Amino acid sequence: MKDYLGVLFDADNTLFDYDRAEAEALAETLSHAAPEVPREQSIEAYRAINARYWKLFEEGRIDSAGLQSGRWVDLFRQMGLSADPAAAAATYITRLSRKAYLLAGAAETICELARRVRLCLVTNGLSRVQRGRLARSGIGGHFTAILISEELGIAKPDPRFFQAACNALGLSPARLLCVGDSPAADIAGARGAGIDACWFSPGGIPWPGPGDPPQHVIRDIGDVLRLVRMPARAQKNDASGVYP
Ligand SMILES: [Mg+2]
Repeated sequence: MKDYLGVLFDADNTLFDYDRAEAEALAETLSHAAPEVPREQSIEAYRAINARYWKLFEEGRIDSAGLQSGRWVDLFRQMGLSADPAAAAATYITRLSRKAYLLAGAAETICELARRVRLCLVTNGLSRVQRGRLARSGIGGHFTAILISEELGIAKPDPRFFQAACNALGLSPARLLCVGDSPAADIAGARGAGIDACWFSPGGIPWPGPGDPPQHVIRDIGDVLRLVRMPARAQKNDASGVYP
């Protein structure tokens, strides 16, 4: 077994139940802004528009403010609603930032891993939303570093994002494992930066790509504990070099 000295963790749908948080925040926002529209229909429309806006954001074609407001402008226009998109955008961010639902086993796994190695949270998202949820989750203190794409100005799978994580932990790519649910952002991204990858795939589906399959696949987040053992004391305490 390889001796990893640090683990990078994706946040959403790896440690946090983002789908539930998003669905609740959307439902609460839409119940005020558009109570007459069937909820499923409006949530589906929002998700399609939101995906387009995140792509524009990650390509650097719009800024964070443009992302947050534009998706609601488009949604209300598409649905023919006269509600105020700026008010909905503000409500949505506030509601979402308060929803810190950890997935089963996430807290226990992070708590135990933090005893063994250095941890870095690596998440594509908005600072206020991710920091709000992390603060409420009770696991934030276990991470040596927290990297959020909006704060960094770079998003996964850009290798510069993963290089920033190496720098934040003071560890070389060869000493790290990256755990996440997204084949492109987390797995292909990590491997592109020379970091071993562990795909969290609770559904157990075959590897869909892109690129080669990851070094590890797990269906239960607690299985990471079988991949990362307690390093020898001398190694764990080695803070002498940027890249031990
Ligand atoms: Mg994810």
